Amino acid sequence: MSDQNPVFIPGPTNIPESIRKACDMPTLDHRSPVFQTILTPALDGVKKVLKAENAEVVIFPSSGTGGWEAAISNTLSAGDKVLAAQQGMFSQKWIDMCERHGLDMIVHEVEWGEACPVEKYAETLQADTDHTIKAVLVTHNETATGVLSDVAAVRRALDDANHPALLYVDGVSSIGSMDFRFDEWKVDLGIAGSQKGFMLPAGLSIVAVSKKALATMEQATLPRYYFDIPDMIANLAAGGYPYTPVVGMLNGLAKSCEMLLDEGLDNVFARHHRIAEGVRLAVKAWGLELCAVRPEIYSDSVTAIVVPEGFDGAELVSHAAIKYGVSFGGGLGKVAGKVFRIGHLGSMTDAMALLGLATAEMAMVDLGYPVKLGSGVAAAQEYYRSNA
Ligand SMILES: *Cc1c(COP(=O)(O)O)cnc(C)c1O
Repeated sequence: MSDQNPVFIPGPTNIPESIRKACDMPTLDHRSPVFQTILTPALDGVKKVLKAENAEVVIFPSSGTGGWEAAISNTLSAGDKVLAAQQGMFSQKWIDMCERHGLDMIVHEVEWGEACPVEKYAETLQADTDHTIKAVLVTHNETATGVLSDVAAVRRALDDANHPALLYVDGVSSIGSMDFRFDEWKVDLGIAGSQKGFMLPAGLSIVAVSKKALATMEQATLPRYYFDIPDMIANLAAGGYPYTPVVGMLNGLAKSCEMLLDEGLDNVFARHHRIAEGVRLAVKAWGLELCAVRPEIYSDSVTAIVVPEGFDGAELVSHAAIKYGVSFGGGLGKVAGKVFRIGHLGSMTDAMALLGLATAEMAMVDLGYPVKLGSGVAAAQEYYRSNA
């Protein structure tokens, strides 16, 4: 019966029944006009969720990683300089992708648990008076460490330096769960995936593109075909796709956007914040530490918890999965074994979070962690009770 339990991994997230039903469709001819009744609400909904009304939005049949590739391959050429921060597994993988594309990386490495180092970015951009840096990458929510970075501050750093580089933001695990303002922050390429805040299965990457980014695409010489954004824009404008779209997933995406917008984005973000606060209070009651090093950068979509000395986070995660049928996230890369993660984004309620916390407690006590049964649950209950 373990498939009755919600998952507490930071993606793929739990799928609401109405979205599952929307995805489950008979075959539909994507070249018929009927397809537009699915495509249009999906594109319109995504623009609202990303606050990207001035942008072009394209949706590729891929996981989020494809969105990274689309963003860089359409706008850059081999040898272009790219500024990035290595602050966790996801930011590291994006850097790796850029390197494999022959881009010239300037990487600021920070402690895993820290946010994007905006001051270092500012210094680097100020010093780049010839404007050789073409791209600035930010991982809005580093899913490996549970750290949120300040995209608006990176935009200010670019503007203060009068620097024309494009701003690329990985919002895969923030968009739809925490506030993301594509237009206001003047993001040039914003990337989301279907299986996190949008509560869908994996299979769609969403890329919002500014007019400024669009204008660079003709000169950009990195090879691209499947992920060609101008091709996709031209086809979407004509109501179709350059190849076969994932029709059911797009129908699910339209439904997901409708749900998020019906709840109200501010209410969605407040819900995520409340759930996350309860989880953080539980961690405190357990006497454990977060991987994120300071409160201002705590993520409301995922919490990475440092396991005590002598314990293995991976063992905890597999024990909870085997004995209780409940999935948590393990540590990735540099923090493998050292942390475990509770994903609390997407289709999540206070009551579901309590189930996750209660199970984590049982699993920890089973393995001899110095944690008292009920301690974290009680702390979260007290918070949810008075903040619901
Ligand atoms: C999940 C995720 C991705 C994309 O991963 P896929 O498995 O390709 O969907 C990218 N960045 C972040 C921050 C993520 O959390």
